[in-house]
Amino acid sequence: MDIKRNYKYLLSDLSSLKGIGIKTANLLKRKKINSIFDLLWKLPKSYTDRSLSSKIKDLKIDETQTITIIPLKYSFPRIRNLPNRVSCKDETGEIDCVFFNSYEGYIKKILPIGKEVTISGKIKFFRNKYQLTNPKYISEDSSLIKQKHNSYSLTEGISEKVYNKIILQIMNNLPKIDEWHSRDILKKFDYISWNNSIKELHRPENIGKFKENFYQRLAFDEIFSTFLVNSEIRKKIKKIKKTKKIFNSKKQIEIISKLDFILTNDQKKTLNEINKDLCSDKKMFRLLQGDVGSGKTIVSLISSFNTINSGFQVAVMAPTEILARQHFLLAKKIFPKEIYIELLSGKSTYKDKKNISEKLRNKKIDIIFGTHALFQKKIEFKKLGLIVIDEQHKFGVNQRKKLSDKAGKDCDVLLMTATPIPRTLTMTIYGDMDLSIIREKPNIRKPVKTYSKPESKIDDIIKFVKKEIMLGNQIFWVCPLIEESKKIDHTSAVKKFEYLKNIFPKQVYLLHGKTTVDEKEIILNKFLKNDFKILVSTTIIEVGIDFPNANVIVIENANKFGLSQLHQLRGRVGRGNKESSCILMFKSNLSDNAKKRINILKETNDGFKISEEDMKLRGFGDILGFKQSGIKSYRLADPIHNHNLFILAEKEIKRIEKENENISRFKPLIKLYDRADIINDIA
Ligand code: ADP
Ligand code: MG
Repeated sequence: MDIKRNYKYLLSDLSSLKGIGIKTANLLKRKKINSIFDLLWKLPKSYTDRSLSSKIKDLKIDETQTITIIPLKYSFPRIRNLPNRVSCKDETGEIDCVFFNSYEGYIKKILPIGKEVTISGKIKFFRNKYQLTNPKYISEDSSLIKQKHNSYSLTEGISEKVYNKIILQIMNNLPKIDEWHSRDILKKFDYISWNNSIKELHRPENIGKFKENFYQRLAFDEIFSTFLVNSEIRKKIKKIKKTKKIFNSKKQIEIISKLDFILTNDQKKTLNEINKDLCSDKKMFRLLQGDVGSGKTIVSLISSFNTINSGFQVAVMAPTEILARQHFLLAKKIFPKEIYIELLSGKSTYKDKKNISEKLRNKKIDIIFGTHALFQKKIEFKKLGLIVIDEQHKFGVNQRKKLSDKAGKDCDVLLMTATPIPRTLTMTIYGDMDLSIIREKPNIRKPVKTYSKPESKIDDIIKFVKKEIMLGNQIFWVCPLIEESKKIDHTSAVKKFEYLKNIFPKQVYLLHGKTTVDEKEIILNKFLKNDFKILVSTTIIEVGIDFPNANVIVIENANKFGLSQLHQLRGRVGRGNKESSCILMFKSNLSDNAKKRINILKETNDGFKISEEDMKLRGFGDILGFKQSGIKSYRLADPIHNHNLFILAEKEIKRIEKENENISRFKPLIKLYDRADIINDIA
């Protein structure tokens, strides 16, 4: 194996580097740096130029300078707190090197009497003499000192010197990997190779040069590798031939005509896209993306209905029981009686479950609703034709692929997400799926009025709430989410609950992280039935449950939430046809940035637009907790600044797909840049 050309060097363990012992390796591992490749992305933050040397007579006090000197005499006073001292000279003057806490043996070794030594550090003037205290940059080889030394935001316990040495070692050993990009792509970056780009990236002079070719190329590599993996998954799924679903469009018209509303154009459009997939002989792997309240459920239910009419079974998975039940009830309402609809709940008894299992295996049940429990090993379907997964943005690409594999070849997959995100992100995160987007919301929906209030004005808010209750309305009260601490969240929610209960006796219930599933369901059902007025909660019900009678949401400590999250919370109200309001509460004075964010929320109700703005203000990765979802963020690429690179990557992928190009040359790219586990069976 020609190691000089082989990318595998970069994937090797840190311990294969000279100068990294187990201790250092462990320190780095704690920072998720496991391989040499990972180290490449820890970039210098600044540098100190030690390349120019001075003479002692020209030294400037309090500045970092480099001099070449000859040690003359040691003085090692054996008195506590008195430092060791080495008098040194050059042809123009004298300087003392002063050491606190250094052994004599070490000092003698680095500063041998009579030998020329190059030394660099901040110069002081003390008792009429130049002085350098605890010098770190000392060597008889002046070239090691006379250079630019990078500073990194370092892992504690690793010195800058050691770190620079390690990076230098890696730069010297970088394999020259065969180019993977086409000439057309390379041309955009002035033909700079990956190898040279990495070297440029680590040159101290290049700190912050995001627009240069080397940086752009490396950012493109990152984006492109993600897109390529997505494309491969999509291709693979598309290759699966399935039995076409054949159904009667008259039946669809009939069921639609019975709805108490008219489908929006986007609902019709997305329904057509899904129907087309169902009827094709290629397996569907489609994402239905639409803002909260855009009406995705009905689209998925009509698709399910069509699937059932073509003789298949359907499974609908929701993230929570309540939501599963709500979908189940809706299906019962709109589907004709001959369709057998079932709900698998966590509360179902063992006997019930066994019974349901049996009926699924015999194809007695046409459609089943439930949580992820539906996908347990024990549950088998006789003829599963469609899986619908609601609110699934917590699924990573890996899980999706597994799901699709498990579903079997005749089973189409429809994922739904209520998190509108910027296009660049959609391409990154959902690039393995076909996409249907609902932008237009049902026009019965009145926009939610959004207000911001400081906490000190809580009396005004209470007055407002009282008025709404008089009108027969219900209120969500979302409690502050403080520093990810469940315990603190809990106490503050309880406190607010007590406070509100005093003002509104018997009208307030509390939901928090410790509420059991059963309790939660009882409370939510009571709320649905309008048995009480105010539901205090932490953010645990941040999903698409429909409470048509709730038209006010109060969100405390609103600056703790991202814009998109606030928008999602706001989406819990305004689902009926009443005027509704969202009150954002703040602790004290708002920063300019926070004010900007609030204004965006006030100005628009378009989730796609809000997410774009959110990304601009907070940066990629923070938005909507994608970090926690296991979807990695890029190291260099940035969907805002590198928008053009995303578009370029998309274009190149399309070209490769169209020309059916062999992608084996991208193997190193894919192996290096993450997600190698997905691609194992591909490249
Ligand atoms: P989401 O996309 O957030 O899942 P839902 O499917 O829960 O939204 O729909 C929210 C509400 O809007 C439901 O009460 C539903 O009955 C209603 N709805 C859906 N489509 C329409 C429409 N075309 N016109 C009026 N109301 C609609
Ligand atoms: Mg929904």
